[in-house]
Amino acid sequence: MDTFAAFSLDMRTLNFVMILFSIIYCIGLLLFSQTQKSIKGLRVFALSLLVMGSGPLLISMRGVLPDWGSIVLANSLIAVSFQMIFHSMCRFRGVDTKYAHYFSWVIPVVVGLNLYYTYEFNSINSRVLVSAFSIGIVSLGAAVVVLNGKNKDYPVAVWMMTATLTCYGIFMLFRGVHTLNGPEIVSFMEADIVQKLAFLSSIFLIVSLSFSMLWMINARQVEAIYALSYFDPLTNLRNRRALDRHTDSLEGTSEKLTKKQCVIMLDIDRFKQINDRFGHVSGDQVIRSVAQQIKRTSGASKSIYRYGGDEFIVVLENQNLDRALSVAESMRQRVLRYAGIDGIERDISCSFGVAESQADESWDELVARADEALYLAKQKGRNCVQSASLESQWSTAV
Ligand code: GH3
Ligand code: MG
Repeated sequence: MDTFAAFSLDMRTLNFVMILFSIIYCIGLLLFSQTQKSIKGLRVFALSLLVMGSGPLLISMRGVLPDWGSIVLANSLIAVSFQMIFHSMCRFRGVDTKYAHYFSWVIPVVVGLNLYYTYEFNSINSRVLVSAFSIGIVSLGAAVVVLNGKNKDYPVAVWMMTATLTCYGIFMLFRGVHTLNGPEIVSFMEADIVQKLAFLSSIFLIVSLSFSMLWMINARQVEAIYALSYFDPLTNLRNRRALDRHTDSLEGTSEKLTKKQCVIMLDIDRFKQINDRFGHVSGDQVIRSVAQQIKRTSGASKSIYRYGGDEFIVVLENQNLDRALSVAESMRQRVLRYAGIDGIERDISCSFGVAESQADESWDELVARADEALYLAKQKGRNCVQSASLESQWSTAV
């Protein structure tokens, strides 16, 4: 007995399973797209699966439907579905859809050749050849688009999608070559293992493409939630929550800083007056402009945080006090020079408090000293940089 007899594949069952998968995945993705309206290409992709499944459905009706339906229309719909997949991949991955249009010649060619190989020169092999080559070429084109997409998607999912389309495309080209060199197929439903594998690989394609697409959408959402919770929308700087997360990693189990840190705390001078005189919209512009200038000074936007209303914190890891004071002074000058905005006829300035961590100091103690230095800078008349004393007056004044 044939060793693989237990695994023998029945073409009609495969055909049925493929139709079932395409319908289920299409409905699932369409329902999912109701809550994902901003995801481009998702609906077209879902519909492409339905169109892909309708091809085999028509093929299975051979004898019931006339040849134009069960052959020409069936193969044309399969070609259209791959064109739709290409189009949806362009939109999903942020690539110009003109690349999908470059391949639109495939559809009239498939329709024309199917008409010819059905009514002029009836040949199942030739029709399989046309279908396999056209699908193979379009799949490989879509793989290139997925790999080179502009959207920053989760790389593993991008590779999975690319690999799926590449393997499928290569298999289809192999199927074409195999059919070209093989004996004439008398009945497609009784064809050899390669034709059966074409159905299996299509089922694999539907599942794998859908899964990797959902994976990427999920990763995009996680990224968006991360951005919402850790970034300040006004300045695009990290917010206080991000700072808390960062400082957790700076302290060891004894809640003491494990490495030398310097902290620059800065606050816009007389900002309430700007709000009162020019309105909150102008006030927002000033906050944004100050953020931009301090970002440009340090060149390390990762370590700058919007701490509160008009207050910012800059964390300098492994830097000494002199270096931190000089960074703060550059920021002060830069803000004074460039942070002004049209419509506000007054200088924009900031006051700075700078502290360097001491041995056995915690993050909170360090920030408290920087805050005191900032308070002192305000007392001294604002628009200046003040270095922190080594002892915190607030923590010792009991
Ligand atoms: P000082 O020089 O002592 O810092 O004086 P100040 O007027 O700047 O006082 P303070 O720093 O306490 O004022 C902060 C103000 O910032 C209070 C609040 O109304 C305003 N504010 C906080 N967040 C925002 C914001 O997102 N947009 C705007 N426009 N104003 C804000
Ligand atoms: Mg202020």
